[in-house]
Amino acid sequence: MASAGCAVVFENELRVIERPRPIPAEDEVLIRLRRGGICNTDHELMRGYKHFSGTLGHEFVGEVIEGPAEWLGRRVVGEINISCGICDMCHGGIPTQCRERRVLGILNYDGAFADVFRLSQRNLWPVPDSIPDDCAVFTEPLAAACQILEMAHLRPADRVVLIGAGKLGLLAAQVVRLTGVDFSVVVRHDTQAARLKNWGIQPVPRSAVSDGSADVVIDCTGTAGGFADALDMVRPRGSIMLKSTYHDLPQADLTRVVTQEIHLIGSRCGPFGAALRLLEQGLVDVASLIEAHYPLSEAVRAFEHAARPGALKVLLTPG
Ligand SMILES: [Zn+2]
Ligand SMILES: [Zn+2]
Repeated sequence: MASAGCAVVFENELRVIERPRPIPAEDEVLIRLRRGGICNTDHELMRGYKHFSGTLGHEFVGEVIEGPAEWLGRRVVGEINISCGICDMCHGGIPTQCRERRVLGILNYDGAFADVFRLSQRNLWPVPDSIPDDCAVFTEPLAAACQILEMAHLRPADRVVLIGAGKLGLLAAQVVRLTGVDFSVVVRHDTQAARLKNWGIQPVPRSAVSDGSADVVIDCTGTAGGFADALDMVRPRGSIMLKSTYHDLPQADLTRVVTQEIHLIGSRCGPFGAALRLLEQGLVDVASLIEAHYPLSEAVRAFEHAARPGALKVLLTPG
């Protein structure tokens, strides 16, 4: 008899429940959670995004405890899109946009915030021994930050401004810094400024970015106000990269997008291989973004903590 374990479930409210160990499908493995990371998307899901109901969690590092020999006992992270493998997007080499896509802990697929959970083998990446659990758990959001560079070419001479220096924004800032562009990050708090300076990134107040001056604005705010700011800062024929999903349907001055011929570029999930290399080589600092650890059994408190304004990464640990 497979033993039961706990799972962090959202069904109108957030609860930690006992549930039997899931039964993996033919192409799936069972993974024991080592660390889970709470993301803004988790909070969005609880506010009604995707009409989600089920086990939360898409940022994780774990150990394979059931599956084929090549994976058994290995420490892994996992891509979150479960693709069909047969649609035009999958055939075209873009499985993250699969027409029948399911998404770990987000869309029609139980998430990773559980003692034991299942995931398709095709989604797994082995974690190099030198990357500790507390850092490996950042692979998914760091990959999403790397996707900025997949979707647009930042030229070395570009003036690039990032707004929205929260959890994802701070990862994106470190990735953009590696390109050597003329880069600044708009901040509102001294703690953000100090952190960025530590990484060799220039923090600036909003007032220091003159209108129409940026070649590229990276908007990690996920708000209508942030997008309006980005429109003010970008030069004609410049680009705005949208890195956060928006709550509701924000109002935006799209006429200016037309008249100033602005490029709008969205980006979502990114390359895990690149993110693991950055972590392995120590090219980004994720450890200092950890704000707290909570055991799975105290997930409700952990979510409350993660929802505090300005909170950075709150991690879940087994048990
Ligand atoms: Zn996330
Ligand atoms: Zn597909």
